[in-house]
Amino acid sequence: MSAFVTLANSFYASYSVQRQLLIDNTLEENRVYATKLAASTEQFLKSMQKQLAYSGVIAASHFDDPKILQAETARLKYQTDSFNSVVITNAKGKILATSPDSLQLMGQTLNTPGALEALKQRRPMISKPYISLAKNLVIIISTPIINAQGEYLGYIGGTIYLRQKSILNELLGEHYYRDGSYIAVLDNERRILYHPDANRIGEVVKPRPLTDAVKRNANGSLMVTNLAGQAMLAGFAVVPSSGWEIVTQRPTDSTLKPLEGLMYKVLRHLTPLALVTLLAVWLFSRLIARPLWLLARSANEMDKPDVSTNIREIPSWYFESTQLKRALLIGISLLQKKIGKLKFETQTDPMTGLFNRRGLAMTLETVVQLRQQFAAITLDIDHFKSINDSYGHDTGDQVIRSLAEQIRHNARESDILCRVGGEEFLVLLPGAQLAEAEMIAERLRKNVENLVLPGIRPITISLGVAYWNQQQGKPEESLKRADEALYQAKKEGRNRVVVSQKH
Ligand code: GH3
Ligand code: MG
Ligand code: MG
Repeated sequence: MSAFVTLANSFYASYSVQRQLLIDNTLEENRVYATKLAASTEQFLKSMQKQLAYSGVIAASHFDDPKILQAETARLKYQTDSFNSVVITNAKGKILATSPDSLQLMGQTLNTPGALEALKQRRPMISKPYISLAKNLVIIISTPIINAQGEYLGYIGGTIYLRQKSILNELLGEHYYRDGSYIAVLDNERRILYHPDANRIGEVVKPRPLTDAVKRNANGSLMVTNLAGQAMLAGFAVVPSSGWEIVTQRPTDSTLKPLEGLMYKVLRHLTPLALVTLLAVWLFSRLIARPLWLLARSANEMDKPDVSTNIREIPSWYFESTQLKRALLIGISLLQKKIGKLKFETQTDPMTGLFNRRGLAMTLETVVQLRQQFAAITLDIDHFKSINDSYGHDTGDQVIRSLAEQIRHNARESDILCRVGGEEFLVLLPGAQLAEAEMIAERLRKNVENLVLPGIRPITISLGVAYWNQQQGKPEESLKRADEALYQAKKEGRNRVVVSQKH
């Protein structure tokens, strides 16, 4: 997961960086482009003003010669293609010369906003856009005509059409992107001078972040939303002499279009190595986790008999897992030893090493499960109290141990020997018949009778014998009968064997 998250993160980081790079580059491109256009426009306006100023000087010295004035307007109109039309008026606005002359305006008095402004200002100026006599949306660049005496004679002005083909259109219209990028030019009152949509020329736009940004700086760039609600990356610059704002914009979407391809490439380069890495990470983590997982699983099954073998087979190829495996094996072996010992201890009488009652119950269970018949001999030392009384308790214990030894000596491998009380014993003889058991009991009685215990008077025992097989109910019943036979033996004078005849 972490490897995958890291990869995804690096992919996302690369996406973000690429995206920001594209946006930053486009913003900067637009700023540079707008600045360059503003510089060109500035140069163009200055050169036009220079041309007009030069013609103004000539017009001043030949103001009463209509031919020269006409020639001057024609020269301005046709020599450079800068103006759509050129006009010279007197101080009252009456047209003295005009080019082209097709409109037959000679002698008329101009009262268009541009003309009135020029007459009023009497200085070189660039007008706001207005509707000309010929119903064109124009701006006029004008310069006053002043004679040697300093009298104001009139002005010479060149118009530039905003909606038709003009030098301004040519300068700004060639925009080389084909992806929805465009240029707009606003005058210093936010009136549109140039826009790819000719219908919007002349419109006054509301103050927007971009126009405000232009006010604060000579040039710069900004992410904006245009009037159509489209996210745009805009660059802007101001033309110093006119205060016009040139805005170059490119849709953010088309800027980010290459991103898809770029990211696809990144993905294509990333994927093979990423897959190999992920596979390696997966394999390694599996390799590391596997011994731990197997050890954990075995730890959960510690009570199963073959758990040690299973653990031994777990491949533990690194230090930590080897140590864990070792610890687990040691732990299990200690545990099993301890359990075995405890089991043995709980079932054994510590003094004689024979089974105790618990051990008897357990073996009895097994015998019953195996559906084996058995004979039982119970025995008790005669007058043992007096041994204790005569020789002391310790010697009494010694006698008990010697008797246990004697019983063991007389028994077969398969016999089950128990010390069921202080000096009472029980011998189970699996598979034995009653007569055989009686014989064994008699032999034991004799052996004990003949037993020489140093420093102690000889002892005798009384024995009871009973038989059990499957038809005889619970095995405990026959043990009881053996006890009853023993009681009988005691009653009959001790040192004898009594066989329970009951079934
Ligand atoms: P009898 O069986 O012949 O009727 O007489 P008894 O004197 O042997 O009577 P009983 O079997 O009832 O006596 C049991 C005595 O054995 C009582 C107790 O003092 C003694 N005894 C029981 N357990 C031990 C033991 O572990 N060590 C010793 N030294 N004496 C024990
Ligand atoms: Mg007793
Ligand atoms: Mg006794």
